[in-house]
Amino acid sequence: MLSLVLEEKGKLSLRDFPVKEVLGPRDVRIKMRKVGICGSDVHYYTHGYIGPFVVRAPMILGHEGAGEVIEIGSEVTTLKVGDEVCMEPGVPNPHSHELMIGRYNLDPEISFWATPPFHGCLRPEVIHPEMFTFKLPKGVSLEEGAMVEPVAVGMMAATRAQITPGDIALVYGAGPIGLVTAMCAIAGGCSKVIISDIQQPKLDIAKSFSGFIPVNSAKEDLAKIVLAETRNRGVDIVFECSGNEKVASQVVLPLRPGGTIVHVGIPLENVAWDIAAAIVKEARIEHVFRYAHVYPKALDLMASGKLQVKKLITHHFNFSDSVAAFEFAKNMPADGVKVHIDMDK
Ligand code: ZN
Repeated sequence: MLSLVLEEKGKLSLRDFPVKEVLGPRDVRIKMRKVGICGSDVHYYTHGYIGPFVVRAPMILGHEGAGEVIEIGSEVTTLKVGDEVCMEPGVPNPHSHELMIGRYNLDPEISFWATPPFHGCLRPEVIHPEMFTFKLPKGVSLEEGAMVEPVAVGMMAATRAQITPGDIALVYGAGPIGLVTAMCAIAGGCSKVIISDIQQPKLDIAKSFSGFIPVNSAKEDLAKIVLAETRNRGVDIVFECSGNEKVASQVVLPLRPGGTIVHVGIPLENVAWDIAAAIVKEARIEHVFRYAHVYPKALDLMASGKLQVKKLITHHFNFSDSVAAFEFAKNMPADGVKVHIDMDK
């Protein structure tokens, strides 16, 4: 079974790579059909690590997947052979304290696809727990199914923000996570979302979504636009999705007093944080690490037409060309948002 293997930092190969997996009574076997390339996959390829997670042995990449159920365990009740599904890539220890308190995404022992030492889904088949496998509703394609993973991060960010109807948000960063976060903020009740970036082609994509106000912060005065759009109050919510240290250190500035900051992007370096400014505004600060309990809601919103994620899939590759797909994603052009791999070809 050919799989896309990260042999070590900077070295990928498409080769036979058997993974020992047994179908348990509450598992399903899935034929992979569509997989999106995530920034984290590319980061492992180019750097060999993310924070404490270090690639020490060959690892199959990919965690944004959708496919078709081809076998079910003896106790599976919610899925059947032939169902089109998407999979939540992180499976927590069922006995963890974090799962007990409803925050299973924080389980330090979680096995998460393509986070060392766990293999990802850029392979013909996977075995996955029924509990973390979701049938795609009518009208949601496999491609959209493979978008649920990044969308789940935006869902989590919008949930943490505790949006109230009519809120105005500012999203820093118009990459895949910034765009899905802005979409989820609108779906969650925001009247408008100002989205800032310095890459114009990404902002041009943002422009096509209703409620988005794209701002090129390299050319336009973001602070002025924020005031003009908010009756000089500042935004109710700031979503930091750029991961840029300088941006992350200034998130209090555009916020209205009593507003909420949600940190989604992960800066590589420590950030100088203006606590005094945050205190004066009594800013509520939230952090988002992956997601929990949002896959079904993301699918329902997609089925309702409120999350139009198709436009974000800007480039397609065949699985047989997946090494080239990673080379492309590594040097992503400014008009690229999400690269998808067709596992059937
Ligand atoms: Zn991802």
